[in-house]
Amino acid sequence: MATRAFIGLGGNLGDVAASFRSAAASIAALPETHVITGSGLYASPAWGGVAQPDYLNAVLEIDTGLSTIALLEALLAIERAHGRDRSAAPRWGPRPLDCDILLYADAIIDSERLQVPHPRMAERAFVLVPLAEIAPDLTIPGLGALTPLLDRISAQPIRRIAEGIPNVHQPR
Ligand code: ATP
Ligand code: MG
Ligand code: MG
Repeated sequence: MATRAFIGLGGNLGDVAASFRSAAASIAALPETHVITGSGLYASPAWGGVAQPDYLNAVLEIDTGLSTIALLEALLAIERAHGRDRSAAPRWGPRPLDCDILLYADAIIDSERLQVPHPRMAERAFVLVPLAEIAPDLTIPGLGALTPLLDRISAQPIRRIAEGIPNVHQPR
């Protein structure tokens, strides 16, 4: 049975918009998986005080028959195919592509390898703002409605810099 899931894309090395386009195509090519909609592209400064290029972010809505772990493994493989090398970079350091599972239907998962909803999503404008663009009425398990969460991150700098990922349907 297909499950609706949301994937957060991020990156700040290389041609990130091209990586998002190719990552969306790779996700669409996964077994039993369809990309439903995608948000615009958003730019924001890096977190954590480490000097690094601005990030680009977007969110994809998918339908998938893959299990959570199979989806995670597929996304990690797509990151590696786009040059992500965790052994060479510090956590939260610059990276060509990050693909995180934000939500997987209404599942709440807290295992060593996977936490869903993504545990830091509520603190991040670069997640909530593109998510609200494609699913404004969403309710997040354990956190409630998306709209009030947006008020809490409204001071974070973020700007919409492009209409979306080429070949990915936009809801508006
Ligand atoms: P953050 O999790 O704060 O966004 P990050 O995305 O840079 O940081 P990664 O290096 O991409 O962190 O991921 C480290 C590990 O996080 C992955 O190997 C994976 O096992 C684990 N992980 C746990 N929950 C998730 C999730 N919802 N989506 C993707 N990875 C997850
Ligand atoms: Mg991440
Ligand atoms: Mg990640």
